[in-house]
Amino acid sequence: VFNFCAGPAMLPASVMKQAQAEMLDWQGQGVSVMEMSHRSKPYMQMAAEAEQDLRDLMAIPSNYKVLFLHGGGRGQFAGIPLNLSRSADSADYLLSGQWSRGALAEGEKYLHCKVAGEPNLIDGKVALPPQSALNINPDAAYFHYCPNETIEGVEFSYIPDAGHVPVVADMSSTILSQPLDVSRFGVIYAGAQKNIGPSGLSVVIVREDLIGNARQETPSILDYGLAVKHDSMYNTPPTYAWYLAGLVFKWLKSNGGLTEMAKVNRAKADTLYRFIDGSDFYRNNVDDNCRSKMNVPFQLADDNLDSKFLELSDAAGLKALKGHRIVGGMRASIYNAMPLSGVQALVDFMADFEKKFG
Ligand code: PLP
Repeated sequence: VFNFCAGPAMLPASVMKQAQAEMLDWQGQGVSVMEMSHRSKPYMQMAAEAEQDLRDLMAIPSNYKVLFLHGGGRGQFAGIPLNLSRSADSADYLLSGQWSRGALAEGEKYLHCKVAGEPNLIDGKVALPPQSALNINPDAAYFHYCPNETIEGVEFSYIPDAGHVPVVADMSSTILSQPLDVSRFGVIYAGAQKNIGPSGLSVVIVREDLIGNARQETPSILDYGLAVKHDSMYNTPPTYAWYLAGLVFKWLKSNGGLTEMAKVNRAKADTLYRFIDGSDFYRNNVDDNCRSKMNVPFQLADDNLDSKFLELSDAAGLKALKGHRIVGGMRASIYNAMPLSGVQALVDFMADFEKKFG
């Protein structure tokens, strides 16, 4: 079975097997890791190692803190304005799809939020604004954007430059998919359930000078300063999710790290888009320069065939291909854990379906 779910997404098979083997007896402790105190020595060691592995993978500079928090991506939609806007009352948001829209809606509860840019259409296809079209207010507390929009399948090919305004990125569906220059960002955050591990956990990578300025009303569990002070254990952390994330980081390291991931991800995306572009039966509505390498939405020429496509693909072991309800059609999410053979199986199925019904 290949699982194309957008999230919670498939995890590497070897990680799942290891978790299964250790489920009842972790490191000879006689209990599951999820039954152990987060303050016990073995757990704290594991947690610190997971952080170090993530730092190694992403080459995170030493002036950044890494936090493991509750609340997924949306938790940070509130965490960002609360932590970064004590001395400012406005922030800029680049709107590229549903998730950046969601982030802006949450930000507006606390701040005046300005739209710094929006997608447009090029030859009928969705295209993201180039740097030259961005309108960034130099007094903004931060500039927020979503490098990869999970629903629309659009991805920025560049990191926006906001001058001295800190760049904040919701990397929920793209983190760890390729090497990244972390020093270009003020804050990077991600819900875990795509390339990191199980849902409920969010990873926040924050530049040190941005910590310690939380607004008075910030809930303690969202306060970066408190999280740093308590090594992300101010309250009980999502212990099992953190452990699984640690296994995923080790899997990434032993598989060539992010450089290798980027190569495989490029090959997977190219395989799928090449097939779609070569067919009159399937189409993708995103401009070539903005196509996501993680989430590939596509439509059938005749949407009356959608339910047949989903029924037969599911029966063939190709799971969760239904597009998000907002855009309809299909979507194949091809995160790190999806092997190239999974994408090849999907393309073979699509070719076969086209022959039968096209
Ligand atoms: N941001 C992006 C880009 C997402 O894809 C998602 C969920 O799929 C979220 C935020 C919301 O994450 P969560 O459900 O963990 O709050």
